[in-house]
Amino acid sequence: MTHRVAIVGAGPSGFYAADGLLRGRPDLRIDIIDRLPTPFGLVRAGVAPDHQGTKAVVRQFDRLLAQPDLRFAGNVEIGRDLTWDEVIQSYDAVIAATGMVVDRKLGIPGEDLPHVWGSWRFVAWLNGHPDFRGGPDLSGVKSVAVIGNGNVALDVARLLAKSQDEMTKSDIVPEAGAAIAAAPIADIHVIGRRGAAEASFTTNELAEMGRLARAVAVADASVLIAEAPAADPTPERLRKAKNIETLKRYAAQTPGEKPVTVHFRFHATPTAIRPGEVELSTGALAADLVVTCIGYTGEPFPQAENVFPVGWARRGPSGTIPTNRADSHAVAKEVIDFLEDRDPKSGPDILPLCIDAEGWRRIDKAEVAAGAAQGRPRVKLVDWQALLDIAQGD
Ligand code: NAP
Repeated sequence: MTHRVAIVGAGPSGFYAADGLLRGRPDLRIDIIDRLPTPFGLVRAGVAPDHQGTKAVVRQFDRLLAQPDLRFAGNVEIGRDLTWDEVIQSYDAVIAATGMVVDRKLGIPGEDLPHVWGSWRFVAWLNGHPDFRGGPDLSGVKSVAVIGNGNVALDVARLLAKSQDEMTKSDIVPEAGAAIAAAPIADIHVIGRRGAAEASFTTNELAEMGRLARAVAVADASVLIAEAPAADPTPERLRKAKNIETLKRYAAQTPGEKPVTVHFRFHATPTAIRPGEVELSTGALAADLVVTCIGYTGEPFPQAENVFPVGWARRGPSGTIPTNRADSHAVAKEVIDFLEDRDPKSGPDILPLCIDAEGWRRIDKAEVAAGAAQGRPRVKLVDWQALLDIAQGD
């Protein structure tokens, strides 16, 4: 008999944890449980659909799914099909890789108006998450306010700014791609409450905004005097200095040179949202759509001796996908140490009927085939029942 570990959440931190566990204890039996019938969490639903290079990490995870002692248990929801208590009692260790999937709130008047979207909900729609079908009405949207100065804000602005041609190699859901292409978007404002040196954009992502076919990036004059703080440790200082360099280049560009202008605005705190505009500390700004990109919160998971949080559930919503590798491997090591002097629990297999790796392969094959017909990486199935039917071979 060997130890059994449940990983709740089949996103990148869950898969990296499985990888770490199998490297240290190849004899373990691991179940990766997810409420969706599809694995890969944030990579499938949160990474921008035009960043296929980032999404390619799933090839590593797919190889793990082929391991005999690792089971994928999709369409299994804790709370509906199993309780946390059952999982905690039945498995020797539980890794909570539940991520953070709830948009943080600005806490200002007007935030609940229908033209205000959180970035999780917005990007999940573009990415075909079956719980987030239907996006905002873009038919009259000329001006967009993207609140936040992180990489998610860049993703949202870029996805709205790109031409349809630039999106052909993406896996954006066709309905969302068509809605963006048909929208009369002319201005996208990326709004930071602090200055250019405080923005958390990474260098390549910010520079990408300067290479778009139908959009010109411009920045407000405050970047011309911005400097990376001298007290920063070196890599951070370098990132900030490069960002400021890029933004200074943008400040020299002319708004309106291309059909869409992406404006980087700093030192502007949103204070209220009204239909058609957002009130900033610097004045009112026209905005037919507001997308808040200000971070996420998560569902709580129980604390118990054998429960180990990982990824965003452990450290909050920060870090790129590769950041999770080292983090999850460290947690896997903790789990291995924890199991060392303990006898494996005995007891029945508690997993209910679920979508296994074979079922996911059927979905994958159907999506890739649908994409191939259009020269795209995949066309996602967005309907719960369709996902379940295909996974079950119907
Ligand atoms: P982030 O980098 O933490 O950015 C959040 C932004 O929201 C910050 O600029 C923050 O400003 C702002 N904010 C928070 N509360 C606010 C408020 N009440 N009013 C106005 N602004 C507010 O997080 P993120 O963009 O959500 O990204 C999450 C993680 O995923 C990051 O580590 C990111 O690098 C990563 N990611 C990576 C990629 C990629 O590599 N391509 C793509 C997407 C995401 P303050 O700084 O002033 O708090």
